[in-house]
Amino acid sequence: MKQQAQVFNNVLELVGKTPLIKLNRITADFKGDYYAKVEAFNPGHSTKDRIALHIIEEAERQGILKPGDTIIETTSGNTGFSIAMVSIIKGYECILAVSSKSSADKIDMLKALGAQVYVCPAHVSADDPRSYYQVAKRLHSEIKGSIYINQYFNQLNIDAHYNSTGPEIWEQTKGEITHLVACSGTGGTISGTAKFLKEQNPNIKVIGVDAYGSVLKKYHETREFDEKEIYPYRIEGLGKNLIPTATDFDVIDQFVKVTDEDSAHTAREICKTEGLFVGYTSGAAMQAIKQLEEEGTIEENAKVVVIFPDHGSRYMSKIYSDKWMEEQGFFDSKSAIHEDIQYIK
Ligand code: PMP
Repeated sequence: MKQQAQVFNNVLELVGKTPLIKLNRITADFKGDYYAKVEAFNPGHSTKDRIALHIIEEAERQGILKPGDTIIETTSGNTGFSIAMVSIIKGYECILAVSSKSSADKIDMLKALGAQVYVCPAHVSADDPRSYYQVAKRLHSEIKGSIYINQYFNQLNIDAHYNSTGPEIWEQTKGEITHLVACSGTGGTISGTAKFLKEQNPNIKVIGVDAYGSVLKKYHETREFDEKEIYPYRIEGLGKNLIPTATDFDVIDQFVKVTDEDSAHTAREICKTEGLFVGYTSGAAMQAIKQLEEEGTIEENAKVVVIFPDHGSRYMSKIYSDKWMEEQGFFDSKSAIHEDIQYIK
């Protein structure tokens, strides 16, 4: 547990050891007990602090990174934020290739932390030279003394969660967890956490959350990469248009797909029912639970852990803006935010 009165030497000492918080109201009518691993309690406000710190410290241990070197990464925003934070403390330059789909909030945050940001078009194929993968690769080849984190194809991404998220959940649930529900982007979170948990108890069910417009669910079921599954969607950080090697499909029992609209409303509902200000993919993960509940998949004695990857502040101009919701055709008066403010003069 984090000790409130403790003094830390720097912000990086606060990475990990996030709380597991019981969900009481949003799940009140569901079978089983539900607990959220709230990753916004990391100092960089997302689960990506874990991988940024682990991968950079591993590169230091191997002597690949020297002071003043440059760290390059492809990111929807969260990994970039964590890398920028670690770079400040450890004295590295930071260059981030970001998808144009990422919220303006996230891009501005990266700039505030001193990172150099390249915004790349979202709806081009992964091998297009303008894609954020290719831009990061090119910069890595051009810049001397640079490393490319490459979270989608880096085994250390899985290891970071195998070493931290998995053991924390096992300890926090006293080994009683029956189901893990987690979003899959790079797949590092779900793969590393599930690998550790299944080594402790192979009966734990692992449910991955995927987006409509992504290839992951179909690939899991058929081992076929089907380009026809790919189309634009709005949720950031969830699903993929390629098959990342940081996903271990064998430790995932099932994928559930969720829509942009349902996930946005469910994120708002988590805020209003549990007082947890969470990001878009937390809404997606909770939406997957709702769908599993509706199908009757979860039994009365289940102890379900859901990972909430990041904080709601990153989505102020998106899911927490009624204007944005209206523009997407998502507006629903039930989840409307009271945007009218009383100004006292
Ligand atoms: N949620 C958000 C907001 C993310 O940025 C990411 C990472 N892309 C994920 C979920 C998925 O995590 P992972 O990459 O470990 O699968």
